[in-house]
Amino acid sequence: MGLGECRFDFEKKIILVTGGSGLVGQAIKQAKQQDPRENETFIFLSSKDGDLKDPAATQRIFERYKPTHVIHLAAMVGGLFNNMKHNLDFLRNNILINDNVLHNSYKLGVKKVVSCLSTCVFPDKTTYQIDETMIHNGPPHPSNFGYSYAKRLIDVQNHAYHQQHGCHFTAVIPTNVFGAYDNFNLEDGHVIPGLIHKAYIAKKEGKPLVVYGSGKPLRQFIYSIDLAKLFLFVLREYEEIDPIILSVDESSEVSIGEVAQIIADAFQLEHGIVLDSTKADGQFKKTASNNKLRTYLPDFQFMPLKDAIERTVQWFNLNYNIARK
Ligand code: NAP
Ligand code: GDP
Repeated sequence: MGLGECRFDFEKKIILVTGGSGLVGQAIKQAKQQDPRENETFIFLSSKDGDLKDPAATQRIFERYKPTHVIHLAAMVGGLFNNMKHNLDFLRNNILINDNVLHNSYKLGVKKVVSCLSTCVFPDKTTYQIDETMIHNGPPHPSNFGYSYAKRLIDVQNHAYHQQHGCHFTAVIPTNVFGAYDNFNLEDGHVIPGLIHKAYIAKKEGKPLVVYGSGKPLRQFIYSIDLAKLFLFVLREYEEIDPIILSVDESSEVSIGEVAQIIADAFQLEHGIVLDSTKADGQFKKTASNNKLRTYLPDFQFMPLKDAIERTVQWFNLNYNIARK
């Protein structure tokens, strides 16, 4: 069944979105408003509702809302340079959050959980294109092994909960996400929000945009609103326990240098781009296959990267005071 097609589903759903205040959570809030279902009630959580690293706090949240479905987004999330400094924190915090969310989902009889992995969890040394069957095939890139192993365990947990208790717990595997409500911190965020914030400052100060590394690594970026639409499809239609990669086509893969140029152009920077080659490049590429997604949704249209970056720049300029940075 395609996106937007109608299926008569009257089952009342209470959908708890952990990490609902973040980049992906806010996009899902917008996407479900644009494509509502009468039988769905969404609850968007932030860390203010309770620390999901804490088993008692997590249990209280689940007992309070009694969700039938969970979109599990809450995580310690960061770009390359944050991961390199804090592998242990990424490992421990995410293991704790995931175990509490999945175990309370099991105890409370949640019908379906959709969790979130990432294409950075795939093996470093690999063949391309990477597909869903390759998650556990070898060690991840050393820069983010803590985050990667914690995320890989979600897939292990999903299969174990299914095998032992028949639970319908699954996961999506997005590529590098960006959009409104991202973390625009200069050092800790991902590359697009980091470069947008740097370009904002460079414009004010009449300086060039400093891009870390060689500018050569390749990435597939997904706009948060596109990802959110696909998340709703997975929540509503996807029946497998095995995860599904949510990525643009391979032809849309770009270099960091190309992305930096789009951002510099969006700000009409007059002093160009300079590369800081003392900084790390991270994994050269993680080219992921969206063949599985295309078998479900052959006609899904992704927003062109340039348009999506321009929208994000516009959001950042308008919301500078409230943006996370
Ligand atoms: P984000 O913007 O940093 O949001 C993280 C969310 O998790 C926030 O709502 C945050 O709450 C919440 N959170 C963090 N620690 C928590 C805790 N201990 N207890 C309760 N809530 C907690 O992250 P995102 O980019 O939307 O990521 C969402 C999911 O997508 C994550 O699972 C991430 O691993 C995955 N993902 C992200 C990317 C990417 O490029 N961003 C790529 C692939 C996969 P507060 O707002 O209150 O802090
Ligand atoms: P990744 O896709 O998981 O590796 O994480 P990032 O979103 O942090 O992207 C990292 C890539 O972007 C690496 O090749 C970095 O060298 C490059 N990059 C260039 N400038 C920046 C920047 O200002 N911030 C970040 N996070 N990465 C940058």
